[in-house]
Amino acid sequence: MKPAAFEYSRPADIDEACALLAADDGARVIAGGQTLGPLMAMRLARPSRLIDIARIPGLAFVRDEGKEIVVGATTRQHVVENDPLVRAKLPLLAKVMPFVGHTATRARGTVGGSLVNGDPAAEIVLVAVTLGAILVWRDGGESQSIAASDFFLGPMVTALPLTACLAEARFPVWPEPRVGVGFHEINARQSDFAFVSAAAQIALDADGCCTRAAIGIGAATAVPLRLDAVADALKGQRFDEARVRELAKAALAGIEAMADLHASAEYRKRVAVTMAVRAIADAYQDAARRP
Ligand SMILES: Cc1cc2nc3c(=O)[nH]c(=O)nc-3n(C[C@H](O)[C@H](O)[C@H](O)COP(=O)(O)OP(=O)(O)OC[C@H]3O[C@@H](n4cnc5c(N)ncnc54)[C@H](O)[C@@H]3O)c2cc1C
Repeated sequence: MKPAAFEYSRPADIDEACALLAADDGARVIAGGQTLGPLMAMRLARPSRLIDIARIPGLAFVRDEGKEIVVGATTRQHVVENDPLVRAKLPLLAKVMPFVGHTATRARGTVGGSLVNGDPAAEIVLVAVTLGAILVWRDGGESQSIAASDFFLGPMVTALPLTACLAEARFPVWPEPRVGVGFHEINARQSDFAFVSAAAQIALDADGCCTRAAIGIGAATAVPLRLDAVADALKGQRFDEARVRELAKAALAGIEAMADLHASAEYRKRVAVTMAVRAIADAYQDAARRP
C-alpha cells in the first residue's frame, strides 16, 4: 500500500517547524521516518502535511556540557551508537543502542523520534527514564524542559504539545570513577521490540560497595518504571544475588503489567525480576572492572 497524499514542508529552523504545526491540525513532524513511514504506508497515519526536520541545521549533535551530555533531537541513532563521548560518559545509552531496531533503522532513525514516539519498549526511552534525563522542546518561540519521567504518559502518549517540536535530550553524567552498566531484554528475535527489558547503572566505591544506583524496567508497563526502592536499598551493599532478587520481586509485585499476544502480564512480571537481577549483576561486574 502507498501513503495517502500529503503536503511536504522543509522548514529552515525549529520555530518555523512549530509554526507549521500550529497552522495545520493534520500536520506531523517527520525525522527519521522509521515509525511514521510504515504507519503511513499502512494508512494507519494520514498526515495532511509532513514537516521534515531532518535537515534543520543545529538539531543534530552530541555535546559535552560537563554535568550533562546533550543529544540533539535529529541526531541519528547510529551516530549516538558510535559516538566516543557517549561511550565514555553515557555508558548506559551506549550499551542499549545496538538493541534499538536494526542497523538499517538506526541509520535513519533519530533519538528525538524514538523519544517522541514514546514506545514503552523503546530502549532510548528506558535510558531517559532510568537516568532521569531532561527533555527540551520548542513551542511558540519558547523552550520548555520536562523530566523524562513526566514526559511519558502512556504507550505512545507523551506530554509534548501538538504544536511543539522536541529539540534535545539532556542526559546526566555520573562523575564517579567506577561506574558500570547492565542491560538485558527478552524478545522474539534480536532487534525486535522487547517484551521486557531492564537497565542498571551502578557506581561502586573502592571496596566494591554501591554508592549510587539507577534501575529501570521497560516494556512491562505502560511507561518505563524506575525501581528507586531497589536502587536505594543497594547503597552500601556488595552484590548479593538472592537479596537483589528479593528486592526486585518486592518492587515489581504490585505493578500493572501489560498483556498482549506476545506475553501475558504474569510472564512480564516474572521475567522483569530476572531481567533486573541480570542487569544489576552486570552493572556491578562492569563497575568492578574499572580502576
Ligand atoms: C523494523 C523496525 C524495528 C524497530 N525496532 C525497534 C526497537 O527494537 N527499539 C526501538 O526503540 N525502536 C525500534 N524501532 C523504531 C525506530 O527506533 C524509530 O527510529 C523510532 O521509533 C522513531 O524515530 P524516527 O526518527 O524514525 O521518527 P519518525 O518515524 O520520523 O517519527 C516518529 C514520531 O515522532 C514524531 N517526531 C519525530 N521527531 C520529532 C521531534 N523532534 N519533535 C516532535 N515530534 C517528533 C513524529 O511526528 C512521529 O509521530 C524499529 C523500527 C522498525 C522499522
